Amino acid sequence: MSIVGHFINGKVTDIHSRLQDIYNPATGEVSRQVAIASKSTAEEAIAVAQAAFPEWRDTPPIKRARIMFRYKQLLEEHADEICRLIGQEHGKIIHDAAGELQRGIENVEYACGAPEILKGEFSKNVGPGINSWSDFQPLGVVAGITPFNFPAMVPLWMYPLALVCGNTFVLKPSERDPSAPLYIGQLLKKAGLPDGVFNIVNGDKEVVDTLLTDKRVKAISFVGSTPIARYIYTTATANGKRCQALGGAKNHAIVMPDADMENVVNSLLGAAFGSSGERCMALSVAVAIGDEIADQLVTQLQERMKSLTIGVHSDKNNDFGPVITREHQQKVCGYITSAEQQGAKILVDGRNMKVSGYENGFFVGATLIDNVTTDMDSYKAEIFGPVLQVVRVKTMQEAMDIIDEHEYGNGTCIYTRDGEAANYFADRIQVGMVGINIPLPVPVSYHSFGGWKNSLFGDLYAYGPDGVRFYTRRKTITQRWPSANLREGAEFSMPT
Ligand code: NAD
Repeated sequence: MSIVGHFINGKVTDIHSRLQDIYNPATGEVSRQVAIASKSTAEEAIAVAQAAFPEWRDTPPIKRARIMFRYKQLLEEHADEICRLIGQEHGKIIHDAAGELQRGIENVEYACGAPEILKGEFSKNVGPGINSWSDFQPLGVVAGITPFNFPAMVPLWMYPLALVCGNTFVLKPSERDPSAPLYIGQLLKKAGLPDGVFNIVNGDKEVVDTLLTDKRVKAISFVGSTPIARYIYTTATANGKRCQALGGAKNHAIVMPDADMENVVNSLLGAAFGSSGERCMALSVAVAIGDEIADQLVTQLQERMKSLTIGVHSDKNNDFGPVITREHQQKVCGYITSAEQQGAKILVDGRNMKVSGYENGFFVGATLIDNVTTDMDSYKAEIFGPVLQVVRVKTMQEAMDIIDEHEYGNGTCIYTRDGEAANYFADRIQVGMVGINIPLPVPVSYHSFGGWKNSLFGDLYAYGPDGVRFYTRRKTITQRWPSANLREGAEFSMPT
């Protein structure tokens, strides 16, 4: 059985303290194993990144950017292989994997602007003959810890920008689908990145804890579930590190009585069930304003859900694939059962879904649940499966209140033809990313990505302008070259 190893100092190594099985979620079979590193292997990667820092820090931004231009080309040339690896270990359909990779590449494109984004700020004549400027300097060794659901895109949110800002990097990808991150990481070497500047260590809590506590690591970017995000943030900051930790989500769509129903149904199908609902921006709750619109919505959804196709990643005609593990399949089905027991109506039931030829796969069929209330467990939790729940309310304000009261605040959306209502919603809702007739308002790479409340711990969002600030430290230099006619005597009051 092949072993997925680490990438340290430009070389792949499968040194490990134990091996962990990687599954093909469509077949339910073990396809490979991943090397789980010990603390000492993680420390070796940190040491290598630390040693590579001085030279990389002094490499001009334009030269760092040129490596990213080549990297973008290589990612595009190898897209088929990358998407195949994503599909094999994550289960998402090939067209969805291609979309993920494209969104990742857009972050490489942003990083290609390194000389522009690192320009700094300059003020002439802040005092007589005095100039002042702010410089944005790299931090040193920074680390990224990433989730299973976007094995290529989320790492690409982090390291292209961290690297062009002059940092060196250690990535700890999800141990459930580590092949795609290892593959794309190695392409950096082909693009011309010096050995040691970028490293990958596969592992579990032992590796993560080493990254969180080692003094040589200056910053941690994390994306994953909220309990782990909270742990990462508190531990990293207690150890004096800069940290951005993005957590879980529960994204609501408000369906107003004047909404374009065809657009609502089309976009809810994709946003609720695409990628089996395993997206932090998945729309998992539709809040319908009034019974009339709610009835129309569930009737049309039920009809359209009959023709959804679920299956293996390699068949591009499939709409979505399996969930990530057997345990997760059981967890998702458990939430559907709990909603039923707590009084909701299961209109379309995805439990016991079987895909012909893939009977042992971790599939859950698209599920629609009506009459969900905010006290139900299925409402409170992030299910992270192909389950769309409908909550019925009477007014838009009631809908906004329940969104605001939810512990998560990642994404949300309103469907309406009323500009005033949409503006009111966008302005006041307590959520970080808002769509207006847009189901998945994932910001483009030249904005930044982040939620509010328990969806983000830290002050700066991921990638884009916030990413540049996260991966650099401001230094402000004030300069004068005294000449004989500008000399002043000793001054004891605060200079003004
Ligand atoms: P996860 O929290 O289980 O794992 C994320 C990372 O943390 C992995 O690398 C994992 O190895 C590591 N990890 C897990 N348990 C740990 C522990 N006890 N100590 C230290 N490290 C640990 O998340 P997941 O299941 O891989 O991903 C799904 C979650 O990620 C969902 O909650 C989803 O909403 C969230 N997510 C959020 C965003 C966002 O931008 N907000 C994006 C993608 C995914």
